[in-house]
Amino acid sequence: MKKSTIVILVCIAIVLGMVSGIMYAIIDRNNLQEAQINEIRKLNELIEANIVRVNEIQEDVVATSGSDVKLSPNAYIIFEKHYIDCGHTIIEKRQINDDEVNKDEEYFKNAYSDWEIESFSANEVKLYKEFQGNCDEHYLITVNDENIVVYSVDEDGNKTLKEETDIPVQYLPEEDVELLKKGITAYGQNELAKKLEDFE
Ligand SMILES: [Zn+2]
Repeated sequence: MKKSTIVILVCIAIVLGMVSGIMYAIIDRNNLQEAQINEIRKLNELIEANIVRVNEIQEDVVATSGSDVKLSPNAYIIFEKHYIDCGHTIIEKRQINDDEVNKDEEYFKNAYSDWEIESFSANEVKLYKEFQGNCDEHYLITVNDENIVVYSVDEDGNKTLKEETDIPVQYLPEEDVELLKKGITAYGQNELAKKLEDFE
């Protein structure tokens, strides 16, 4: 073979190699693009499905928390009474009255207009109100002539006899009697019971 022929053949080979390389790259890119498009399509489908689901959830939330919620017959009303002077919050709970069955939040806003509605669901209405003074859970443990007695104390310090116990004073140690004569304060039924136990 002539030297020039070899050079031409080599040139052709190089050109063919380049062309096939470029072709391959183009095909590959097309494939890649197609794969990417498929990915994007799948993602979009996923996002769409989720949007539908989110919408459904939001509709559910609206349906259960909206103003069309009505009280079930065995629902409870919880009264949270906060007393400003002593800082105590007394919680009272009662089952709803017959005439409150099937009533909605709007009804309670009117019926308990001086209370704040903290929450409203079919099973429970939570109401909150602030009061001046002390709550009625303040007690004074002291003595009369024979027994330990308990007074309720209001915010002005006025005492009302709540209970005369059958715990006699005469067998108590001198220092206990002195303490009782000064008066021992207690807050709440639990503390009152606990402090009375100390003398039994
Ligand atoms: Zn209190």
